[in-house]
Amino acid sequence: MSIQLNRRLFVFTGVCASLCILPLRIEAQHEIRVLARVDAIGSVLSSEIPVYALLQDAAGQSYALTIAGESQIEAFDRPFQILDKPAGQPSDYLVLREGRPGAKKAAAGRVTVLHDDGAQWLVRVTGRTSDELADLGFMLYRLPAKPIVWTAPQPLLLRPTGAASAATILATYDPLVAEIVNHVQQTNLYLTLKRLSGEEPAIAWGNLTNIYTRHTTAMSAIPVTNAAAFASEQLQALGLSVRYCGWSNGGYSGRNVEAVQIGGALSNEIVVIVAHLDDMPSSGRAPGADDNGSGSAAVLTAASVLRQYAFDRTIYYVLVTGEEQGLLGSAVYAANAKTAGLNMVAVLNLDMIAWDSVPPPTLNLYTHSVGAPTYSNEMAIATTFTNVVAAYGLTGSLAPVIYNNSGMVWSDHASFWNQSYAAILAIEAYGSDFNAYYHTSNDNLAHCNVAYFTAFAQAAIGTLATLAGPTNRIPFDAIEVVNSDWIPGSGVGAGVFFAQHADGATENGADTQDRAWADAYTNPNPAWLKISSIPYGSELRSDARPTNSETIFRGKLAVVATNASIITDTNRLRFAFLTGPDSNRIYTVKIHVDGEYTLQSNDFEFVQDLREVVASGGHVGLPSLKQVSNGVYYGTCDIGARFLNRDSTNCLTRTIIATGSNIIMTLAAQVGTHIVDAYDVSTNLLDPDGWQSWISYTNDIAPDATNFESGWQTITRVLDYSDFTASPAWFFRFKRHWTDW
Ligand SMILES: [Zn+2]
Repeated sequence: MSIQLNRRLFVFTGVCASLCILPLRIEAQHEIRVLARVDAIGSVLSSEIPVYALLQDAAGQSYALTIAGESQIEAFDRPFQILDKPAGQPSDYLVLREGRPGAKKAAAGRVTVLHDDGAQWLVRVTGRTSDELADLGFMLYRLPAKPIVWTAPQPLLLRPTGAASAATILATYDPLVAEIVNHVQQTNLYLTLKRLSGEEPAIAWGNLTNIYTRHTTAMSAIPVTNAAAFASEQLQALGLSVRYCGWSNGGYSGRNVEAVQIGGALSNEIVVIVAHLDDMPSSGRAPGADDNGSGSAAVLTAASVLRQYAFDRTIYYVLVTGEEQGLLGSAVYAANAKTAGLNMVAVLNLDMIAWDSVPPPTLNLYTHSVGAPTYSNEMAIATTFTNVVAAYGLTGSLAPVIYNNSGMVWSDHASFWNQSYAAILAIEAYGSDFNAYYHTSNDNLAHCNVAYFTAFAQAAIGTLATLAGPTNRIPFDAIEVVNSDWIPGSGVGAGVFFAQHADGATENGADTQDRAWADAYTNPNPAWLKISSIPYGSELRSDARPTNSETIFRGKLAVVATNASIITDTNRLRFAFLTGPDSNRIYTVKIHVDGEYTLQSNDFEFVQDLREVVASGGHVGLPSLKQVSNGVYYGTCDIGARFLNRDSTNCLTRTIIATGSNIIMTLAAQVGTHIVDAYDVSTNLLDPDGWQSWISYTNDIAPDATNFESGWQTITRVLDYSDFTASPAWFFRFKRHWTDW
């Protein structure tokens, strides 16, 4: 039995001896509490009545769900409807929205629907029913333990010393934010998502593990625990202060991960980026690539990029669990933050950001409805997002649309809303182009749109950076834990390429300009070969990619102009580094000339390490051309610049087959590297000096046409282990050493 004290909701259940000292002025009422729907309350809450959910029915009518005594509800004087009497605990109630078509049909008869407003169902659950519902394709909102807090925060100043209005930030295009957006690399995001969705092993607790599910409780919660460990170790390696935040809610328990990057002048103001790490389905393989490996990968990438900059505000990187059972982890997290008095000025929740199957590349941003106390701050966050898209060159890749709807409560921002923190949800086109594999084992990488995902993450991280207010780049030399976003030293100075038609080539007549390297920036002779480029426009002769880019640069080979209408001459391309190659990077070049334009009528293909090309004079001879008219593209020249990757994960050796005396092993090696791979043996793992070398291989991993795009090569080795007897046991270890170029 519950006892209600006063008209505010002080509910104490069971025996609480220590509460006998409550002030006597609080008068006890013995009234049965009911769960009711109260209409026309959508944008304005009142302290007169405890509210646990703000919703909008199919007809657009706003209403609240309350748990209170009937007389209190009547006194509130709004239209109401009792839905459950007597009421249970708030956490017994779930509001359900169909996320995958057919969920309602499949659930018919399995749950008692207390209220169907045409848009969503209200049900009362026991035990683990919530997992069954999520498996059917529902999104879940569980009523929070305590009523919604409804207080107005301070206005959000977008730049600490500047604009109070979101619209004005465009005036201050920030080169640091531009740099940050460029540092969010597709290769990096993809690798992290691969590991989170179990397509590639991740390292947790020092061991390689395959995260084949991140369900909050599946398989004794080991997989999601591994995923949380993987994430927390990545964040720790960045030098952030990381902690687990345990939660217990709705019959479940788990742990959130929180990493903190302390700010400067406004360090007591916190901006939060949050995503839920857990996924569905509740049993079997659950890659959860889009829902919500995508948001989680973006949070980890945000940390790895933003860690290299200093900010005015403090940044919290948060991964929560228990979302699929009704926002369980985030509800506890946000409530604890409120209790602790944390001044979270802006919360950006990323949930499902990698699905885009039909153009345009829409994404949705959800704020409260007009009238909510956090509404204007949320609009400031959402407008910052749309401004970042416009200001940093993402307009062609993303089409953001802002919705003001307090009833959009199906992700973790709602837990922050319930504490009156200004929060927005950023999500793919919910309602028009939503993931068809929602909560199924087919929510995998193959169904993600990686280009859309990358642009989405760039915009989100640019938004976070803008809200936090970057002040400068900081030297950073923690362990590199991810593939690619390492910026050596100052962040500038990666090699810049230059390619020109080579000195000595036999085009039509002598061309003195070919010898004048200093003149090469201009194009004084129309008979020069030129490299026109995608996407940088025509006549680009130097490689002007951002210094941290791994995007392969493609130039088209064309004749700008010839003295004759047809050329039949040989040509050479010459390459040089204008600033010298970067020791942390690998440069490869691929030249292809189409056979229909060669005298031999064969395709010409040349793939090599660009350093080696330059070291030997920089010339690449092209075959004799025929029938090439002015402006015809007769071939391509691709240049790759990748970061040297020393991640130990890539030294993973896999056994393919073991025969009588041989083991056939494979492992990955980065193209363009010079490596020494050594295998050691020992009979006693406890003796650190017990290792002796067994066999080693020196390899130059040369680029070729098949590995040029991926930048990786699989090496196969046949190891003869016939010398090793079964007893004593022999242990093997593998070491890789990178040698210079
Ligand atoms: Zn989700």
